[in-house]
Amino acid sequence: MRKALTLWMLVCLLCAAVYGTQGETAFTTLRRGDSGEAVLAMKQRLYELGYYTTDQFNAYYNDNTAQHVMRAQEMNGLNRTGVASVSFLTLLFSDDVLDAQGHRFGGDTAETKTLPPREDAALPIGKQLATPTVLEDGTVVSEENTGMDWIPEDDYPYGIRSGSRDSKKIAITMDDCYNLEWVRDTFEMCEQYGIGITFYPVGTQLKEDVAQEEGKELWQRIAASACEIGTHTHQHRALTGLSDYHRVLYAKYPQAVLDELLGYHYPIQSLRPPFGSYNSTSVRRSLEAVGYHHVILWDVATTDPDEAFRKTQNGSILLFHAKKKDVLCLEKLIPRLLEAGFEPVPVTELLGIAPLPVTQEVFVWDMDEYYPY
Ligand SMILES: [Zn+2]
Repeated sequence: MRKALTLWMLVCLLCAAVYGTQGETAFTTLRRGDSGEAVLAMKQRLYELGYYTTDQFNAYYNDNTAQHVMRAQEMNGLNRTGVASVSFLTLLFSDDVLDAQGHRFGGDTAETKTLPPREDAALPIGKQLATPTVLEDGTVVSEENTGMDWIPEDDYPYGIRSGSRDSKKIAITMDDCYNLEWVRDTFEMCEQYGIGITFYPVGTQLKEDVAQEEGKELWQRIAASACEIGTHTHQHRALTGLSDYHRVLYAKYPQAVLDELLGYHYPIQSLRPPFGSYNSTSVRRSLEAVGYHHVILWDVATTDPDEAFRKTQNGSILLFHAKKKDVLCLEKLIPRLLEAGFEPVPVTELLGIAPLPVTQEVFVWDMDEYYPY
């Protein structure tokens, strides 16, 4: 009897230890830029409570996550901060939390209220966000909408490797664009087949192209066609190895170069990070400060037409460079893809983002303030 009692006490002590530990360490404040298991667990709980309508999550806390958190905060009578504080998370995981319908999760339905319809979901693409972001070095950057910040988070992670697997749409992309000859050949191939692809030129190359009539004319034709111009940043440097200051500069300065080249404002709506290198909180913070709430990666990268064809599936994003072997591959690949029913479209169309309108007012980078050369 005594032995059984001792054992029972031991079990109780163990339970207390386990639960005690969990109780103390389960929650830490989560905010935009965070990622991991804790973010995932929070989203699952928000889904359970009806704040998310799908449980296909990634583990990133981004703008869209903050919107869902704000909705839960509003419903529960808290300030809409978009930051998941320890007290918010404690309430969220308790039975006292109100679900998206205003019902107490623990079962007491006496306390209910309804929220007004979501307005944040209907923000028009192209709306300028006024919230300035202050970077580590004190630089203040006005947040701009590239159109990429309203991609539903439930559909895409921060680094996008493909579009929907349910549609025959695919995106062919061409990086660097150092060689105008191969850019032209690729562009003319697109015109011949009546398709649009996305070019990701490096800003320094565009700057050289501004100076020569041939380059200028080609990019003007591309901008006016079914193709799309994104950016591969200003210099071909890994964003993870740069300061906030240079990341902001390299991400945004190409917009000024492109506008100068074209003579009007052509909103750049997608960014391909050099070397596909983007995966750090500080890179995301810098890019989000200038409106890139996602970066575009790829799921097919080969210049062997057979392999490229074999690997391409619905929603694929194909990576190419403006080089001879890439162009030779595309010459064989594009007709095969079309024959198989694939529909090559620019990246933003693949992701369902409407193009921002071009305007006459060109984007001018403040050279004295930002440009170090
Ligand atoms: Zn590159």
